[in-house]
Amino acid sequence: MIEVSGLSKSFDAKSVLNEISFSASEGETLGIIGPNGSGKSTLLKMLSGVEHADSGDIRLGGKPIRAYPRKELAKWLAVLQQDALPPVGFTVREVLEMGRYPFQNWLGDEPEDSSGLIDDILAELRLTPFAERTLEHLSGGERQRVALGKVMAQQPRLLLLDEPTTYLDIGYQMQMMDTVRRWQEEQKLTVVAVLHDLNLAAQYCDRLLLIHRGRIARLGTPWEVLDRELILEVYETEPIVTAHPVTGAPQLLLQPGAALSLREEAVSLAEKANV
Ligand code: ADP
Ligand code: MG
Repeated sequence: MIEVSGLSKSFDAKSVLNEISFSASEGETLGIIGPNGSGKSTLLKMLSGVEHADSGDIRLGGKPIRAYPRKELAKWLAVLQQDALPPVGFTVREVLEMGRYPFQNWLGDEPEDSSGLIDDILAELRLTPFAERTLEHLSGGERQRVALGKVMAQQPRLLLLDEPTTYLDIGYQMQMMDTVRRWQEEQKLTVVAVLHDLNLAAQYCDRLLLIHRGRIARLGTPWEVLDRELILEVYETEPIVTAHPVTGAPQLLLQPGAALSLREEAVSLAEKANV
């Protein structure tokens, strides 16, 4: 579905991504994780064609993404970003209709009537009662569902998510991830998601790509990547890794006082005390 090889990117001579190579197959969910500033959003922007790599190659369905005209690319992939919604004043239905732009002609007309599709998405996301409401009259969680509805209306084959659940409470987080998964199962959608929450990533992703200082620290199954030593090295805090009692996915328990910087302090304090 998507193949990335040898991708590198610098900003002002500062290397942000270095020789990144991976691929995601149809129907797969690939999670991108890594500390703040490690280059995750930059990578996602390159996958969506917003940023250009200095070197390396991204192929979508075997063809370089540079070769796709904008609307053709939008039929392949959709991006769900935080704060991706249009300004206030639009109704929920209007926003979902905006997701149809790759299929519209220059007059904004679509050869096929998409109102049935829009109705289905509204129902799926439990937004039907709000269809004629404008965005400013929705809660944060409802707005996030509208943003998801807009990309669903676009009917992409590849969905790119950049920290889609960061501002959501746990109920909405799970609802968002479950909705994406249900949609994915119905449509064989491929998902590449930057996820902040490692436990959520372990639950929903087939494989994880851990980025550290612009390089791939590890690519593999959640159990291969959420390794205690590796997490300690990359995040500088030592977790306890345990199996989820129901799903069996690895889950991290964080330990107060386990941050590397604190530990070094404790060691040096102890050394001083011994002198
Ligand atoms: P992440 O999403 O993993 O937190 P980013 O990809 O946003 O990380 O950023 C990685 C690094 O690249 C950061 O040091 C950031 O400051 C830098 N960076 C990102 N975009 C730009 C840009 N447009 N110009 C200059 N530096 C940038
Ligand atoms: Mg980011």
